[in-house]
Amino acid sequence: MRPTLATISLSALRHNLSVVKKHAPNSQIMAVVKANGYGHGLLNVAKGLSKADGFAVLGINEAIALREAGYRQSITLLEGVFSADELHAVAQYQLQIVVHQREQIMMLKSATVETPISVWLKINTGMNRLGFSPSEFAEVYGLLNDCRVVSNITVMTHFANADQAQGVSRAYSRFQAMLGHLPVKQTLANSAAILLHPETHADWVRPGIMLYGASPVTGQSAAAFGLQAVMSFTSAIISIQTIAKGDGVGYGHLFVADKPMTIGVVACGYADGYPRHAPSGTPIVVNGKLTRTIGRVSMDMLCVDLTELPDTKIGSFVELWGGQNPVDAVAEACGTVGYELLCAISARVPLKVIDGEG
Ligand SMILES: *Cc1c(COP(=O)(O)O)cnc(C)c1O
Repeated sequence: MRPTLATISLSALRHNLSVVKKHAPNSQIMAVVKANGYGHGLLNVAKGLSKADGFAVLGINEAIALREAGYRQSITLLEGVFSADELHAVAQYQLQIVVHQREQIMMLKSATVETPISVWLKINTGMNRLGFSPSEFAEVYGLLNDCRVVSNITVMTHFANADQAQGVSRAYSRFQAMLGHLPVKQTLANSAAILLHPETHADWVRPGIMLYGASPVTGQSAAAFGLQAVMSFTSAIISIQTIAKGDGVGYGHLFVADKPMTIGVVACGYADGYPRHAPSGTPIVVNGKLTRTIGRVSMDMLCVDLTELPDTKIGSFVELWGGQNPVDAVAEACGTVGYELLCAISARVPLKVIDGEG
């Protein structure tokens, strides 16, 4: 069997959930499991995060899959419904919905469903993506309150700059000024705000990336926050080449050796979700030792420098990212964030779930 594999640790998920709890002991936790659980497999991560108070996804099919797997906690659609007909399944499966624009209020107003629906009213405090402006709040809150099917309203916002030290102060004070003394439940904090801005924790926190053991804050490692990598993306050496000074490696000969070298070929490429734009020098671990990638990543393979790793053999273990090589370090070399790499793991990579350290 091709050795390329992503191993998903349930114990790391449970540990990272406990880190959220430690930071926000008085808040309920809505575990964000969108994008197939950030690439880890929706039902895999739900299993590791089964103690969360709720789950959040985007597609109604993901929400139904969680219900049908037996999860009883709240399940929220983060972009709400896209058309009125989805409200039937929302009611049937007792899902909750974000309401971020007026068409969604109209859908609720004319809904014929019998079961009450809990909604999350989204306010735009400066991200300028989804949500009503604070000046519309009183009106739309009233409209929702008057909807026969709406049973419960939690007010929500999402920060544009929660990863920066002073990044939420403006949005946070706008939100508080808007609410005044209205006794409503609130949710504001994603992972970065959970870790950096405790004043924003409120009734519900919405962790995503930190549950998967990657850092939401560029330049600060996940380990420094006490988080454990959940995914270990691994493969093996399938070929070893010795090359002379001046020899090129891979497509376009992007890398040219400036000395005699030993090169290993790893059975992993961009069709597996490893980024094609990873430059030569991207960190990678072979047999537990840190080395670097060499040349252009191809569809099914990439090359690594084995010149200083003479013990490497065909079949030697390679960690592309995981507990030994943080996904954030790989992402930084590629000019992106851990989020993108985790989500991009492709469908041909088998996901193997383990309960312990593995
Ligand atoms: C994705 C998402 C989150 C989780 O964000 P992280 O940075 O991964 O913690 C929280 N809230 C909303 C509305 C989201 O879309």
